[in-house]
Amino acid sequence: MAQKLQAPRGTYDVLPDDAARRDQVEATARRILGAAGYRRIETPVFEATELFARGVGASTDIVQKEMYTFEDGGGRSVTLRPEGTAPVARAYLEHGMQKLPQPVKLWYLSSFFRYERAQAGRYRQFWQVGAEAIGSADPAVDAESILLLAELLESLGVRDVRLRLGSLGTPETRAAYRELLQRYLRTHEDRLSEEVRSRIDLNPLRAFDADHPGTQEVMQGAPLLIDHLSAEDLDHFGEVRALLDGADLAYEVDPTLVRGIDYYARTLFEFTSDALGAQSGVGGGGRYDGLIEQIGGAPTPGIGWAAGIERILLAAGEEKIAPPLVDLYVAYAVPEARATGFELTWEARRAGLAAQFELAGRSLKGQLKQAGRIGARYVAIVGEESATLKDMETGEQEELEPGRVIPVVLKKGKTLA
Ligand code: AMP
Repeated sequence: MAQKLQAPRGTYDVLPDDAARRDQVEATARRILGAAGYRRIETPVFEATELFARGVGASTDIVQKEMYTFEDGGGRSVTLRPEGTAPVARAYLEHGMQKLPQPVKLWYLSSFFRYERAQAGRYRQFWQVGAEAIGSADPAVDAESILLLAELLESLGVRDVRLRLGSLGTPETRAAYRELLQRYLRTHEDRLSEEVRSRIDLNPLRAFDADHPGTQEVMQGAPLLIDHLSAEDLDHFGEVRALLDGADLAYEVDPTLVRGIDYYARTLFEFTSDALGAQSGVGGGGRYDGLIEQIGGAPTPGIGWAAGIERILLAAGEEKIAPPLVDLYVAYAVPEARATGFELTWEARRAGLAAQFELAGRSLKGQLKQAGRIGARYVAIVGEESATLKDMETGEQEELEPGRVIPVVLKKGKTLA
């Protein structure tokens, strides 16, 4: 027997019942980001592989292990987008947006692809809503960006949110700090876990996340990047914090919050939700002042974030969404009235009513039952000469000419509203 066909591992179908909730996320993002001057952008689902190699970083897990990369018919290497920032930065350059008033503020809601181990809250095709502000290094852009994500999560009812904030300084500061940390780890090598010890050269920062008690003890005395920032970077961070404090946004400064990509600079942040399990990250982002240069443009500052739609929905819990309204259900009493009913349905729609017609050949009794199932407010039972309009809430009925059905429903709708 042929194998049953299923959605590929790590993917899922958005069924109509789920779609309503997602529409709400999109509408809320549009409202909040639109009001702050962000405009929608959509980039292609696939891009030249090189964009991500340069724009995400060749040494990252994403580029090394998680990309869906293939050759197209023309022998070009293309990749299903694993994230949105590099494509948006590419579009910014390609369309000369550096000539527009800066910063250019863009938002997207799109699907992304990563070959990751599938588990609750982690998929191979997932959706992110994201916002990027390119072209200004002003700390107010950082604060605004963070506040927008905070507001979006709050408006969507994401529970138990926590914000961690850090500053990375410049790549040079980070390189010097890395060496300092490596020296410190080597001096205490005998107390570190095997794993941390073997990664001193490759990724010394990982030591901050270790569960191993000896390592944790050593890390309590470890030098922190935040204590080695330049005066300028510290000022920038101070201003971002002051603006967030002024807006009463709670956060925790986390000196161990890091990202291993070279073009990240200064502000870095992550929102988590305690309502989620192991995959607790809801959304995060940071400043990427080196990115545009990395992909071939002039040095241009930028900051942005992305938040996962699946995690937002999981962390927001179930919220009942009212089923779509049906103003009028058009039933027919005899087969001869079918064409009249069909036309009436279209006229009702043109008049702005949500109208449905009997499409399954049910008996009159079956048609009325169906009208009840879909929650129709009125039912018009069309006969050859006349129609009966039934108010499904009160049970009242009246006889009228088919041509009167729409004006009467419209008028009743008005008096109800
Ligand atoms: P990142 O682009 O890795 O910084 O992730 C930003 C947000 O996207 C995370 O906080 C998650 O909410 C979401 N996300 C990232 N990867 C996945 C995935 N594989 N499945 C579902 N959501 C994800």
